[in-house]
Amino acid sequence: MNWKRSLALLVADFGPKITIKIVECLREDIYAGKLKSGSEIKDALKRSVLELLTTKGTKTELQLGFRKPAVIMIVGVNGGGKTTSLGKLAHRLKKEGAKILMAAGDTFRAAASDQLEIWAERTGCEIVVAEKEKAKASSVLSQAVKRGKQGGFDVVLCDTSGRLHTNYGLMEELIACKNAVGKVVAGAPNEILLVLDGTTGLNMLPQAREFNEVVGITGLILTKLDGSARGGCVVSVVDELGIPVKFVGVGEGVEDLQPFDAEAFVSAVFS
Ligand code: GDP
Repeated sequence: MNWKRSLALLVADFGPKITIKIVECLREDIYAGKLKSGSEIKDALKRSVLELLTTKGTKTELQLGFRKPAVIMIVGVNGGGKTTSLGKLAHRLKKEGAKILMAAGDTFRAAASDQLEIWAERTGCEIVVAEKEKAKASSVLSQAVKRGKQGGFDVVLCDTSGRLHTNYGLMEELIACKNAVGKVVAGAPNEILLVLDGTTGLNMLPQAREFNEVVGITGLILTKLDGSARGGCVVSVVDELGIPVKFVGVGEGVEDLQPFDAEAFVSAVFS
């Protein structure tokens, strides 16, 4: 097997564009005899990916501004782990001393607000849910942020619906949600976090492009890294869109959300 093919296999998880880019980057050093053994090449690859993640995906910490409440919208396709990540994030922020309000903005799926209510109970956070059936998501979020403001909450965590990302109605709804919270607190939402399922491979990229184009994503939560998935494709998302990974999901429990650690991630991907 020639070196190009071996390299391509090593970085196959990242997607074709990145693979070509990295292989081209290392070509010169390999031809010049600077990288000889397999382990030297692997180390150089790790360095390239780490550099890409740390230069293109900066601001891995939440940027919550100074106005209260800070508003975080969680978006993504169904089943990716939005509600679960919101619950875990609530737990993490609460442990840091923040007063958290949850907002059940997935008014499309009947069971979604029940699921979020379970998380509210589990984490001891208050929650705002729709008062009537078929309520508009934007009204629920707007109402929640108003309550957050009046009740002295530090952060309002907004769940949103996640039917197919190609669904035009959903994207319209997300724009309405974003605008509605911005009317209550200037500068809100402070963060719009896109949840990407680590097991979905290359599908991550079109999803991220679309959500980013419509609402402007400020950070990524990469879920389900506790299974066999390594989530390497997220490197393509960071590279193309310059959006940082902020958290990784490593299970279904309250403690299973970790701040993104680029070095640990790269080591795991190449392990
Ligand atoms: P949503 O439709 O995007 O809100 O997704 P959910 O939060 O309902 O999650 C879908 C499924 O994935 C649920 O069974 C979650 O328990 C599970 N899940 C979410 N995050 C993780 C994770 O990091 N690891 C594992 N193993 N499962 C997860």
